[in-house]
Amino acid sequence: MIPARPLFSHIGQTASPGSGRSWLAIWRDSITDPRELLHLLGLEGQADALLADGDTGFRVRVPRGFVARMQWGDARDPLLTQVLPAAAELLEAPHYSSDPVGDMDARVGTGLLHKYAGRALLIATGSCAIHCRYCFRRHFPYAEETAASGQWREAIDYLRKSADVDEVILSGGDPLSLATPKLAELTRALAEIPHLRRLRIHTRLPIVLPERVDGELLDWLQTIPLPKVMVLHANHANEIDETVAEACQRLRDAGVSLLNQSVLLRGVNDSADALAELSERLIACGILPYYLHQLDRVQGAAHFEVPDAQALALIAQLEARVAGYLVPRLVREVPGASGKRAVRS
Ligand SMILES: *Cc1c(COP(=O)(O)O)cnc(C)c1O
Ligand code: SF4
Repeated sequence: MIPARPLFSHIGQTASPGSGRSWLAIWRDSITDPRELLHLLGLEGQADALLADGDTGFRVRVPRGFVARMQWGDARDPLLTQVLPAAAELLEAPHYSSDPVGDMDARVGTGLLHKYAGRALLIATGSCAIHCRYCFRRHFPYAEETAASGQWREAIDYLRKSADVDEVILSGGDPLSLATPKLAELTRALAEIPHLRRLRIHTRLPIVLPERVDGELLDWLQTIPLPKVMVLHANHANEIDETVAEACQRLRDAGVSLLNQSVLLRGVNDSADALAELSERLIACGILPYYLHQLDRVQGAAHFEVPDAQALALIAQLEARVAGYLVPRLVREVPGASGKRAVRS
């Protein structure tokens, strides 16, 4: 039995190449005060107009490196828009709920969701390095619901018994916000389940905090005896700077296939130019566009919604401009459906 290590036990030991600080130290230094965020961008004078005047129930969190990719002085910057608690979050929107995708109904064990044939999704942790205002999990009861909390036991027992599951998806929250030894504890147990054929990791960390892709993480990935697919999450080309490109290169060198999923967001990427630039930037880093999600109707995110007709028109424009493999599939999650559903006219 490997003793469970507390989260954050490895601070200081895993500096990424070229940086003197561990990813965890960088994460801890994130911005959590929206006024400080505006100040860094020269927008402090507009704080009262820009910020929600009340409790949105979802704290601000942004790594400083992500802030550095925002345009100074631009209140409508597409990266800023994703993280700033706007007044519109406090508006009640009809048809918006706190569990829009029916996650609680798909629960088969602590932190384990089995909704679709062949693949099970593990809510490895509730923590994220960035808090995205449109996130559909912003109201999920993470505290009781993470698979790691019981040394992964419930999740592993279920997977061992479920011969029809051949792919495990580590999700969250962001699974890479767990300490690497904690992840290794899980994958050692998964490696002993003979019917598992793939490991997938859904993470935004290599985008928002590329220092996370350090030597220890790469060593761990290389020990996993299964094909590894990482589904990243970037919504705008400006999120992908040189540090991100280098992190992706290290992941690919470690044998990881890279895909990207985005959320279609009003004011962030709702133009054919923005989507085309994102796809070009992704492929330049060896990442294939996978899904473009229609927003999940979570309370507080209604101001990000793009109507289906406009979304379909954007995809048609994109198809006319770029190679077929640079067009992500426009999908939405429908509670009770057997998979993500293509948006059609
Ligand atoms: C999105 C999702 C998956 C993965 O779906 P793919 O279409 O294979 O990417 C699996 N399980 C759950 C619960 C999901 O929400
Ligand atoms: S990183 Fe992913 S799970 Fe975390 S807040 Fe952003 S969208 Fe949600």
